[in-house]
Amino acid sequence: MNAVEIIIKKRDRLRLSKEEIEFFVEGFTAGAIPDYQAAAFAMAIMLNGMTAEETTNLTLAMAASGQVLDLAGVVDIAVDKHSSGGVGDKTSIAVLPMVTACGLPVGKMSGRGLGFSGGTLDKLESIPGFRCDLNTEEFKQQLREHKIVLTGQSLELAPADGKLYALRDVTGTVPSMPLIASSIMCKKIAGGAQAIVLDVKAGRGAFMETPQQAEALAALMMDIGSLAGRQTVALISDMNQPLGHAVGNALEMVEAIETLRGGGPMDFREHCLRVAAHMLVLGRRAETLEVGERLAEAAIANGRALEMLRVLVRAQGGDVSFVDEPARFERARLVEEVASPREGYLAGVDARAIGEAAVSLGAGRVRKEDPIDHSVGLVIHHKVGDRLGAGEPMFAVHANNEATLEKVRETVLRAHTFSDAAVPPLPLFYD
Ligand code: URA
Repeated sequence: MNAVEIIIKKRDRLRLSKEEIEFFVEGFTAGAIPDYQAAAFAMAIMLNGMTAEETTNLTLAMAASGQVLDLAGVVDIAVDKHSSGGVGDKTSIAVLPMVTACGLPVGKMSGRGLGFSGGTLDKLESIPGFRCDLNTEEFKQQLREHKIVLTGQSLELAPADGKLYALRDVTGTVPSMPLIASSIMCKKIAGGAQAIVLDVKAGRGAFMETPQQAEALAALMMDIGSLAGRQTVALISDMNQPLGHAVGNALEMVEAIETLRGGGPMDFREHCLRVAAHMLVLGRRAETLEVGERLAEAAIANGRALEMLRVLVRAQGGDVSFVDEPARFERARLVEEVASPREGYLAGVDARAIGEAAVSLGAGRVRKEDPIDHSVGLVIHHKVGDRLGAGEPMFAVHANNEATLEKVRETVLRAHTFSDAAVPPLPLFYD
């Protein structure tokens, strides 16, 4: 067995055995299979797909590429959440403090930006000193002591995903159902989750464009979850327009903090409350979703949720003063407000174009080793269905380069489409 034969087999649309998948994942993790072969393998999977059985085997092999945490004795029930990736999706940064404030400890492994979608870790690292590379012992210790952890895959936890994720980001191999399902579920399994809330996004700013595709991805992940003995629920949520207003790392941190203070955009707040409620029900802290939402709302209102964000930031070495003084976040050199070119109803706010524009400003990566510019991004002031007057502020560009700002202004103007007739707002959830 060798890596080339396995790549060729997938290229030729043949099924891979469990042993072949394990051989590839082990070799890649150990460095015996180089990045260029892993990139070819990912592209073959992207183009030719995998059966549910292959995807499950890939997931389990990636979970087994490092340690698999056993959180028994650390928490009474390990509940986790994961999003399939979107634009303006800072949900984990607000939801983890909410649910931990309701007495449900959560230790979560998140990811970095992927393609046009942002990454929780890149956002958190806008806080100077914040560490996303906890080792297994640190993860468990922090969960035991502080009840909240938000970190990345380490060399110890799902390292195969860490390596493959970074390659997929820059090789056009992100929007693949088996690669997304295995990437998400291997992290949840390795992280010791017993119950998982999957936030599967559908729309222009997601890797699954239609609710039907998102449902198929959700069903695949739920099957993998139940095979691995994990209780799994999935929400199908809209990602045709950005979630909230802010897109870009520091800007999104500020928005998540505002939300934990009781403000923030309505769509983002509602989205977070729903996800939190599902976690609280799975974690047996709430009997119904309604009770879960009320508990999460109360945790915002009484300041406990914001306090849990402080606890998280302090525990992971970040400068906690940023939570109380968001003005301290790095700000881009150029901030330009762009006005609506006409009056009318917003018919579309293309989340993909906006996500790509944020990457081109420097908020995401084009090459694996690219640094992130935490200060740049966009603030999209309106939602589909809003009525705008000509000249009314429509969005702001935060940039560090004049030429990029020019280009992004045009792209984001085009991303807004208008109708003279009233347009209904988009739903937050499809299912
Ligand atoms: N989130 C992940 O962890 N992996 C993906 O492939 C997509 C979203």
